[in-house]
This record gives sequence, C-alpha cells and structure tokens, in this order.
Amino acid sequence: AIWARGVAKSFGGAPVLRDVSFDVARGSVVCVLGASGSGKTTLLRCLAQLETPERGVMGIEGELLGHVERGGALHKLPARSLALQRLRTGMVFQRFNLFGHMTALRNVMEGPVTVQGRPRAEVEREALALLDKVGLAHRAGHYPAQLSGGQQQRVAIARALALRPAAMLFDEPTSALDPESVGDVLAVMRAVAESGVTMVVVTHELAFAREVADRVLFMDGGSIAEDAPAETFFAAPGHPASRAFLAAAL
Ligand code: ATP
Repeated sequence: AIWARGVAKSFGGAPVLRDVSFDVARGSVVCVLGASGSGKTTLLRCLAQLETPERGVMGIEGELLGHVERGGALHKLPARSLALQRLRTGMVFQRFNLFGHMTALRNVMEGPVTVQGRPRAEVEREALALLDKVGLAHRAGHYPAQLSGGQQQRVAIARALALRPAAMLFDEPTSALDPESVGDVLAVMRAVAESGVTMVVVTHELAFAREVADRVLFMDGGSIAEDAPAETFFAAPGHPASRAFLAAAL
C-alpha cells in the first residue's frame, strides 16, 4: 500500500501540491488524471523521492518515505537507507532513460546487481524472464539505440520490475511514443497490473484508465478534486472540474 497525508510542495513560491492525501491499496491500480500543470508529475516525483514535500508525509508498505520514526519524532533517513528505499518504487518515465552503453539485458540487471547486491546468475535468469514477459527476449543483446521507442519503454518497465519494487510508478509512459508503439506498452502495463503489482499511473490514456484502473485520482490546481472508483469516475464524475475534463477529452 501507498499513502500520503497533507502533502504540499511549491516551486518558487507557487504552490504545485496543496494538502494532498490519498491511499493506494496493495495490488491495486490508481490512475492520476488531470489537466496539464495540475501537479500530477510532481506528485509522482514525491512518491519516487525525486522531490521532497515541504509538508506532509508519505509511506509505502509500512515505511515512512525519507524518514524514520524514533522516540516519537521523525528523523531523516541516512543516505544509504534512502537509496535502498528509493528502489522500493520502480519508476518509468515519459522519456526512456535506459543506459545507452548497455544492452537491454545489462540495463535490467544493473540495479539488482550493483545496488541491491544480488547474485549475478540469479539476477540474469530473472532479467531474461522479465524481458520475455515484456515480449523482448529476442532483443536481450540489443543496445537502446537499436530498439524502437516502444521497445525501449518495455525494457524500462522490465528494468523497474527487476528491482522487485513494492510499487510501480508510471509518468505518462506512452506520451512520447509513436502511435504504433503505444498499444504494445499499454498491453505490458495491463499484464503487470494483472500480476497484482501496486501501480500509480499518470496518464492521458483514458481508455486505459477506464479499463485497468481500480481508482482514479483527478487533480486540479494541485489538489485532488476527486478520488473515486474508476467506474464511478467515468460514469458519473462528481466534481465540476472532472466533468469538464472528461467532456473535453471524449
Ligand atoms: P503535465 O500533464 O503537463 O505533465 P502535470 O500535471 O504533471 O502536467 P507538473 O509537471 O506536476 O504538472 O507541474 C505542475 C506545475 O509545477 C507546473 O506549473 C510546472 O510548471 C511547475 N513545476 C514543475 N516542476 C517544477 C520545477 N522543478 N521548478 C519549477 N516549477 C516546476
């Protein structure tokens, strides 16, 4: 499970997240929707600990993000613990950010071997199985430049899964892809969801959200305007901003 309570963040004095609270049940899929600039990416980056909230707390599977509670007070996690905790969320970005000088297989193996210190042979077996799962077993020896955008994004998903994360975070994973690749990546994400992985997905793919999400968080001006089961959100959006957003999109 993932949770946030009262999270706030601003850039240069401008509030981008205001008092954001939500829960993501273990094994569920939450899609974060909202207009451009509503704070979706910033929220995800806070969960991935690439940004630090100014106020509020977040947690994942019983751990506080970035902090540890001792004697009734919150203390910042030391750098090493923080680095390990970061790996509990597997992040997939809008732009594929594979290591260009490594094959697909090495990309997937890098985190588990180098940061988690797991045995190389075991990691390699698992990495090959993951590449197979995303339909790229036959591309294990290819470098990113030899792969299409959609293939690179599927390697990025395998790489994130290889860390055995407690949750997967996706930031508009298909928005930089050519139309032919979008479906392949969404199909892999759907399979990941069906395998029971907790997922938070920032997306503009409404059909995907409608079919795969358990809940929708709809963001408006840095706040969660609506937090509803996906079915309810799409059939009967409860907030004027959600209604306007859906009316404009459909
Ligand atoms: P989009 O759908 O366009 O990606 P979003 O909902 O993900 O939008 P964010 O990327 O979270 O929105 O941005 C929210 C606001 O915060 C925007 O006005 C953006 O310009 C601003 N912002 C985001 N990151 C920074 C930063 N590092 N420095 C300054 N301003 C930022």
